[in-house]
Amino acid sequence: MSKSNRAAMHVGCPACGGIVNASVPPGPGIDEESDSNRLQGRETVCRDCGHELELYYY
Ligand SMILES: [Zn+2]
Repeated sequence: MSKSNRAAMHVGCPACGGIVNASVPPGPGIDEESDSNRLQGRETVCRDCGHELELYYY
């Protein structure tokens, strides 16, 4: 079970259409023991226009 520590994501900024690079930290993943699979959010800011983006990942 060796996954890469960090997943790089490239998201399109809805405001300026630029590409926003975001690194997602290694999350706990989907835990079957937990009651609900919570979606984790992470905020990042577009470097071009400063638009705030929220990323959600498992
Ligand atoms: Zn932007």
